[in-house]
Amino acid sequence: MTAKVIDGKAFAAGIRAKVATHVARLKAENGLTPGLAVVLVGEDPASQVYVRSKGKQTVEAGMNSFEHKLDATVSESDLLALVAQLNADPAVHGILVQLPLPKHLNSDLVINAIDPAKDVDGFHISNVGLLGTGQKSMVPCTPLGSLMMLRDHLGSLSGMNAVVIGRSNIVGKPMAQLLLGDSCTVTIAHSRTKNIEAIVRQADIVVAAVGRPEMVTGDWIKPGATVIDVGINRIERDGKNVLVGDCDYDSCAAVAGAITPVPGGVGPMTIACLLANTLTACCRANGLAEPEGLTA
Ligand code: NDP
Repeated sequence: MTAKVIDGKAFAAGIRAKVATHVARLKAENGLTPGLAVVLVGEDPASQVYVRSKGKQTVEAGMNSFEHKLDATVSESDLLALVAQLNADPAVHGILVQLPLPKHLNSDLVINAIDPAKDVDGFHISNVGLLGTGQKSMVPCTPLGSLMMLRDHLGSLSGMNAVVIGRSNIVGKPMAQLLLGDSCTVTIAHSRTKNIEAIVRQADIVVAAVGRPEMVTGDWIKPGATVIDVGINRIERDGKNVLVGDCDYDSCAAVAGAITPVPGGVGPMTIACLLANTLTACCRANGLAEPEGLTA
């Protein structure tokens, strides 16, 4: 079997177009422009690239983008003061503090200082609790994008066996909650899991969020399973610097029914879902109907 390639790039373009259409309607009918504030502390090159890309795509969707770049030595109290200012600003509907923060700053404290209604990353403890109890919340972008692709490819996920590899707060745990919300039977595997290959081989849906290049190989995959590869790993191959996922693409694609490539799979969906969450937050803040199909 050769797997169908789930094209995250094209899917994300569709989400962004949907967001842009809704934003144009909000402007015309309600005089509202959704606004996303991104806070970047320090000079981490990867974070700078992400923040630039987020700002560009926010503006392309017709939304306001507010960038706040702070020195790596900023004090916790100054950062918290900025978060408080953004919480109070009616033009800001979404706030994202780019992680990781420098070591002297307490990420949990900073994230939990964001107004949960503006927490478009979905990392605030209130949103984590709401998601865990099946209530309306802001849903973390990478798992949300992964869920959208799964629903699009499979339709109903009800009753399927899903294995999520990785238990981080950012990807693994919220992904498992979302799959449970869609009535999958969910197993979370991690670095201490025994017989991981055999467990993954039971899965109709595999989500790999590990951070280990090409760890999952085709012999772990049940024939016909759907594989979502969240991993983004930079490796040297044939003298070149290349991006690979947590799944060995060629051997997994030879067995799976469908698979997301790296790059061009989950990655583009993450920013598209950030824009979708900002739009959702703006609609909720103004008591307006939320756009359909853009949240869990
Ligand atoms: P973390 O490092 O926070 O978590 C990794 C998880 O993988 C941990 O739960 C860890 O287990 C588990 N793990 C590590 N080694 C093994 C192993 N040998 N077998 C089984 N499980 C293992 O990473 P993130 O969740 O933040 O990210 C995971 C990957 O996804 C990374 O490659 C990251 O770059 C990528 N990513 C991609 C995004 C996108 O937009 N596409 C967004 C966010 C992340 P334990 O808890 O026991 O240590």
